[in-house]
Formats: sequence, structure tokens, C-alpha cells
Amino acid sequence: MNLEFSNLYSIYMLIFGLVVGSFLNVIIIRLPKTLKVIWANSNKCTDLTSDNFSIYKNMLWKGRSKCSHCNSVIRAQDNIPILSYLLLRGICPKCKNKISIQYPIVETITGGCFFILFFIAETMLQWGILALFFSFLIVLFTIDINEMILPDILTIPLLWIGLLINISGYFVKLDDAVIGAFLGYAILWSIFWLFKLITGKIGMGYGDFKYMSALGAWLGWQSIPSILLIASILGITFGIVASRKSSKKSLQFPFGPFLSIAGGILIIVNLNDTFSFADLSNL
Ligand SMILES: [Zn+2]
Repeated sequence: MNLEFSNLYSIYMLIFGLVVGSFLNVIIIRLPKTLKVIWANSNKCTDLTSDNFSIYKNMLWKGRSKCSHCNSVIRAQDNIPILSYLLLRGICPKCKNKISIQYPIVETITGGCFFILFFIAETMLQWGILALFFSFLIVLFTIDINEMILPDILTIPLLWIGLLINISGYFVKLDDAVIGAFLGYAILWSIFWLFKLITGKIGMGYGDFKYMSALGAWLGWQSIPSILLIASILGITFGIVASRKSSKKSLQFPFGPFLSIAGGILIIVNLNDTFSFADLSNL
């Protein structure tokens, strides 16, 4: 991006990313709890229906952040991204229990992504769209690690936003985005049933299909083989390493985090592809 004082702007983006990361932490912690309350009401539908509205309002948006151990309200000065964690040395000032390392990690990764995206994006609008995409990836990554779920209320909007953004071919042609959304779901669905019929085991969840569908909507069907290849290699590598360390026979781990990493890599590679193809045709 050719902005004057771009170095200064990039620092703003880093700080903005740290603040957004702190907000993403709130979603990561509170959304699964909110969904569990909705499910406990024997309500399968987690949409923002009139029944669910007050649950979302009270559990997701209301109330200050609290310590997960002693439930004491975290003071504003202890709620500064990363800095507070470092100053408190990762320990709650009230109960002296450890504060989850997840907080500073999510903040650092979000800040880092927003910072790096500033140098990759061609316009401020593109930076904003990429920052939104990466925020979804980070939240889905972390929630899937914590809870082994990829909530519909995140994956479905991500899919719609992807299709909307590509209406006039922002990242890929709309045709490619629609086919991508379909194939993303269909391919994983087929693998799921094939695996289940052959082995009798469940290898993935329906959240994975919807997440892959959303990535197909953003990146087009052409990116699906690469996403699956990267995610599978990462997943298999992780599986081998984890099974060596673990004594458990059947090891269960989420697939969503690998989809997040693959989706993040692919959107950046695709952006750079347009440059390199243009460069090649100029030769
Ligand atoms: Zn505490």
C-alpha cells in the first residue's frame, strides 16, 4: 500500500488489531457458553430468533469481563491487550490463579494479522475486508480447539459475506464463488459419508462442511483442492505428532483450525497470484 506515513499507519493497524483481538476473545469465550444455554433449552436453532434474542443479549453482550476462576470483574486497567497480561505476569490479581494464555495469543495473532495485511492489501477497503475474513478465521480456529464446534452463527454469515463480496468479482467471479460454496460442502460431505460407510467412524462434523463451503464462497472452487491439501497435510502431521505423545488409542482433534490456516494462506496467495500472472503476461 502506497500511503504516506505508511509505517505509522501500520502501527495503528497493529494497535487496532490488538483491541479487536481482545473483542474476539470475548466472542471466543462467551459464544460457546451462550450456545450451550440455547441448546439446553432444547432449542436446536441458534439463529437470532425472538426466543434466543435475550439469551444472546444477556450472555454475549452484557456484563464486564470476569476472571474464569474467581468470577471477579476485571478492572479496566487490567484489561489492556497483552500489556495487562505481561504486567500481571499472567496471574489474576484477586485469586492468583493463572489467566489463560489464550488471551494474549489471540490478541497478538489478530494484531499481527492486521499489521501484515496492511502491507499486503492494495486499498484500505481491501484491508478491511481481509481483516474481517481473518477475524472469522481466528475465532473459528480458537472455538474449534476449545469446544470442537464450528458454530452456524459464524460459518453461515461467513458464507453469505463471501458470496456478497464476490457479487462483482472482488476476489473471484461470482460463478466460481457459488460453485465453491456448493463444492466445499459437497466434497467434505462425500468424504464424511464414504469414511463412515467404510470404517463406521465419524471423521468430521457438519460444521467442517459449512466452514469449507464458506471458504469456497470467498476463494472460489479453484482454491478448494489447495485448501483441502494444506489442511489435510497439517491435520495428518498434527495427528501423527499428537498420537505419539498421547497414550489414547483413538485421538480426536478438530479439523477447523487447519481449515483456518489453509484459508488464510490461500487468500493471500490468490491476491499475489493476480500480480504474478500479470507480470508473466508482460514478459
Ligand atoms: Zn481470579
